[in-house]
Order: sequence, then C-alpha cells, then structure tokens
Amino acid sequence: MRPISEFFPLLTTPQSVVVTFHQKPDADAMGSGLAMYHFLVQFGHAVSVISPTNWPAFLNWMPGAKSVVDYEMNSEKAQGLLNQASWLFCLDFNVLNRTKKMEPILEQLTCTKILIDHHEQPDTRYFDYGISNTAKSSTAEMVFDFIEASGNLDKINSALAECLYAGVMTDTGSFRFHSTSASVHRMVATLKDLGLDHSQIHENLFDNFLENRFRFFGNVLLHRMEIFYEYNAALITIPQADLIRFNVKTGDTERLVNFPLSIKGIRLAAIIIDRGDERKSSFRSKGGFDVNTFARKYFNGGGHFNAAGGKNSEPLEEVVQKFKMALKENRDLLNS
Ligand code: 5GP
Ligand code: MN
Repeated sequence: MRPISEFFPLLTTPQSVVVTFHQKPDADAMGSGLAMYHFLVQFGHAVSVISPTNWPAFLNWMPGAKSVVDYEMNSEKAQGLLNQASWLFCLDFNVLNRTKKMEPILEQLTCTKILIDHHEQPDTRYFDYGISNTAKSSTAEMVFDFIEASGNLDKINSALAECLYAGVMTDTGSFRFHSTSASVHRMVATLKDLGLDHSQIHENLFDNFLENRFRFFGNVLLHRMEIFYEYNAALITIPQADLIRFNVKTGDTERLVNFPLSIKGIRLAAIIIDRGDERKSSFRSKGGFDVNTFARKYFNGGGHFNAAGGKNSEPLEEVVQKFKMALKENRDLLNS
C-alpha cells in the first residue's frame, strides 16, 4: 500500500469512482463516505456511494444520503457501478468481510483501491494507496486530513462539513473518548468558521427516534441485562423475539451497549443480538481492557481497543456461554 500523499496528484483527472464503507454503516462510515463524495464531485469525477447493507433512518438527513445505493436492495445496479469504477475508496473498514455480501465482488476487482481507516490490523495487501491510523478519532477526521493535506480546504462546503461533523462527533462519543485530540477540536473549529450549525446535527442524530425504541430499552434494562461484578463486566442479550415485539429497526440498538458502562465499577460491557441470520455482538471497555483482541479471539470480530464488534453463526445461547467462558479466561485482565 503506497502512502495516500502519492495519490493526491491523481485527483484532478476525472474518473468513475465508487465510495464504500462497512455494512450497517454508522454516522462515521456514512458521514465520511458522503463527505468524500461531496469532495470528489468538485473535480468532475463521476462518484457513486454504495452501502453494503441498509442503514439507520436517523442518517437519512445527511446531504447525499438519498443517492446511496444499498447493495442488498439493488445489487445489480451496484455491481454495474463497481465493474465500471476505476477507483474504489474504502472508508471506515479495513478487512473485506466487513462488506458482507459485497466481499466476493470486491475481491475480484482490479481497479485502484484506496483505504482511509482507523481500525486495528488492516489487510493492507488489498489496497494500492491508503492511510491506516488507529490513533485517529474517526474516519471523518481522516477525510478532513486528506482534504487539508491535498491542499483543498477551500472545497469544504456546508454539505461536506455536516457529513464530517456527524462522523467525528459520534465516533468520539460527543468529544468524550481519549481519541478526542486537539486536532479534532481544531477541525471542528474550522467547520464552525465555515458556518456549521452543529446543534442541528445533534438533533438530527439523537432526537429522531420513535417511542418504541425507548419501550424496548426499558425492557432490556429490566429483563435482559446481567451484571457480573466479579469480572467488572455486564452483558445484554437480545433474543430475536424482542426485536419483533418492539419493532426494532436498524440503528435502534446503537449505543445501548454503553448503558452498563455507566454503572460504577463496570469496565467491560457487551451486547449480543440475535438478528436471525447471525448473532451480532458489540463490546465496549473503559481503561486497559482490549476489546479488539477479545472480539477477534472469541467472536470473529475486531475494531478498536475500547470499542469492537463481532458476529457468530452459533445459536444465541451458545454465544452467551462463549462470552461467560471468555469472562472466566480473562478474569485477571478484567480485575487488573
Ligand atoms: P459496533 O459495536 O458499534 O458494531 O462496532 C464497534 C467498532 O468495532 C466499530 O468501529 C466497528 O467498525 C468495529 N466492528 C464491529 N463489528 C466488527 C466485526 O465483525 N469485525 C471487525 N473487524 N470490526 C468490527
Ligand atoms: Mn469510525
């Protein structure tokens, strides 16, 4: 993988471009993808954004979201766009299995692939150019750096600024996590200087849910959360029947895993959701417990040191047992 700076001179020659990101995109994946779209079109590139799966409705306000192609819903169109592309931008993921059903298509593409990502252990063999930096708060921050380092700050318009802000704000836990560096605040200051209305974005992302989501949360906190004080850990288990009963949609479970971390002493929080086709897990930690390693070892996953996820094909009860066994195996680390 060649350094991203070697790609800058190519920017001015119009190409057919596809921008993609990880399945079930969050605001950083969608925000950095659409920001890249708003940047590249200004050079005359023909740019399409493809999401491997659907996305939460609370991302639909993002400028450009309506033109994003959902691979699962519209795979023929998406495959046509991928086959025509001379550049493929891969944002906010670094292993192809994060693109779910798109993985075999991406594997055989011969176009130029560019990686911009902040997750651990990238599969750099696949990419021609790129940057992988696990110290960065968000892919949105890295897209901002890409624009700045290529000498194009003047191309940040209001649509682009809104997408970048949504990504950096959510991936830093509203500017709370350790990754919230001085450069994150400098980036936000630059966006504010350009006229960004940040409070509207918080409202778009956090105040747009339906009542059922909170009824579901009530049930989860009362009946589906186990606390393991001997391991400073907590587990939320969601059977598929709950998703149906409360009409839970993509995105409704986002941030639920954080609730147990607010309990005094809890340093590892996990959620395992039976989505039917797979058991999706999320892990969050405080301090020195590495959930990237934990998710890789037991749950076919990965991510960051303090936030990671995974997926299993075994039945829900077996995945829960696996988690409890993993707690035992990690007793010393969880108590240190
Ligand atoms: P979440 O728990 O919100 O789905 O994901 C937390 C972090 O871990 C995100 O940065 C996400 O991209 C990453 N992640 C989630 N699931 C997986 C997975 O199955 N594999 C890998 N490598 N990373 C994941
Ligand atoms: Mn991210």
